[in-house]
Amino acid sequence: MRLTIHRGTKEIGGSCIELETQSTRLFLDIGLPLVDREGNPLDSRHCKDLDIAQLRERQIAPDIQSLYNDSPTFPDALLLSHSHLDHYGLLPYIHNSIPIYCSKGTRKILEIAYFFGQSQFDPESVRVLEPWKDVQVGEFKITPYLADHSAIDAFSYLIETEEKKLFYTGDLRSHGRKSVLFENLLKQPPKDIDYLITEGSILGRDNYEQTNEKDIEEALVKEFLNKGLYIVSFSSQNIDRFVSIFKACKKTRRTMVVDPYTASILDNLRELSPNLPQYNWENSFKIFFVPNLYTNKLAKSKNLFTYASAKISIDEIVENKERLVVKDNFKLSRILKNRGLLKEARVIYSLWEGYLAKNNFWKENNVPLIHMHCSGHAYKEDLVRLVEAMKPKKVIPNHTFHPKQFQEMFEDRVLLLEDGKSEEL
Ligand SMILES: [Zn+2]
Ligand SMILES: [Zn+2]
Repeated sequence: MRLTIHRGTKEIGGSCIELETQSTRLFLDIGLPLVDREGNPLDSRHCKDLDIAQLRERQIAPDIQSLYNDSPTFPDALLLSHSHLDHYGLLPYIHNSIPIYCSKGTRKILEIAYFFGQSQFDPESVRVLEPWKDVQVGEFKITPYLADHSAIDAFSYLIETEEKKLFYTGDLRSHGRKSVLFENLLKQPPKDIDYLITEGSILGRDNYEQTNEKDIEEALVKEFLNKGLYIVSFSSQNIDRFVSIFKACKKTRRTMVVDPYTASILDNLRELSPNLPQYNWENSFKIFFVPNLYTNKLAKSKNLFTYASAKISIDEIVENKERLVVKDNFKLSRILKNRGLLKEARVIYSLWEGYLAKNNFWKENNVPLIHMHCSGHAYKEDLVRLVEAMKPKKVIPNHTFHPKQFQEMFEDRVLLLEDGKSEEL
């Protein structure tokens, strides 16, 4: 089998891996890069107007033959690990006959992203795989493993040919609300793994606190016992974080207020788990119909009307501010400001801190900011535990800015690859 990591041997983002045997060609992920080839942040909004030839020329899309929509031939399959843009963002450009596989949750998020115009890719033909149920694609036997990550329903993949066994972690961690998945993988790892292609996003960060999702929930409870309005900044697609905030609200008798976009994500994911909070539960969260593009999209499709029973008005927010926790949103924060609500409010910042460099709204308005976040990626100790449990013959670093740190950790077991350079396994 021949392995080519097209992008990811020295960076986070733009994940794309190719596996090839005599008769079968398989891809793992097709992500948008987060940085350009010089390592500067890449603004993906500029990519929307480019065609695949331009994207290849500018080294945004990897230069691969017989993959994109300008080619007559195409590979046998593409497996998606999860619904983060750095793993699926180039989907609109690939040949439309490639069979694409992913988890149910990943497909749901792709549908949501298409509906709200965040992605140009229509996932209608995407096939859903069940975790731990293997499928055969040509010479490859593929078994998805459900993983704990900040994207819902993320997969790692075990890939076998008659000669070799390879495990691709995708993005994973041990400290989310599904940490049991990581622990189970360590307890019952796939046997006789030749190659472990593993993420190493955390490498390069020193002295980080090893917080987990439960710690976040507990810290939120302590905060919410105080007086005053709380505003929480977090990603609507980070369902683990939503649940932590929701539970902390329950424990402190506060009510969470979200935008229609967040409510519709939960609504769309409802068949994944009966435990996912929904707008029509008794004493559930409330929805403020914030005037923005996403709310308009829902209104046009008549879906917004469904959420009317959970609607809360701005006057009700003002009246009940002591008992509420409001999800941050660009428009809403301005509305709250106009109603004088920022004076006694506190913001819980539950996103990657790097985003704050661009957004000084809270600082400008003298709103106290409390940082509470945990990474979507495995801590260094967990990477060590993973390798010790799985005992692969070789460890191949991927999705990391610091591949050489793997050598310090695993010495000559590490196989360092170059982007775009094929390796005979
Ligand atoms: Zn991810
Ligand atoms: Zn990623």
